[in-house]
Amino acid sequence: MTVMYAARIICSDEACAAEAEVVAPTLTELEAHVCAECGAGMQVLGVSFEASATGAVLRMLTHERERLERDLHLAA
Ligand SMILES: [Zn+2]
Repeated sequence: MTVMYAARIICSDEACAAEAEVVAPTLTELEAHVCAECGAGMQVLGVSFEASATGAVLRMLTHERERLERDLHLAA
């Protein structure tokens, strides 16, 4: 089992504000991402981690949770 960190990251350039969801084995690697749109550094908005055999599984779970939160928000 490998501990994987999942994070939502946002571009540090306010004019761009691209967001992405990334999974990496270390916090340093999460913070090392650069914006795919403009190449600026990315800011980490939130980090969660869990022991997972593969990053793909964790990515799926994260996506599912966000969809759920969005549905709950719409229903409120
Ligand atoms: Zn950007």
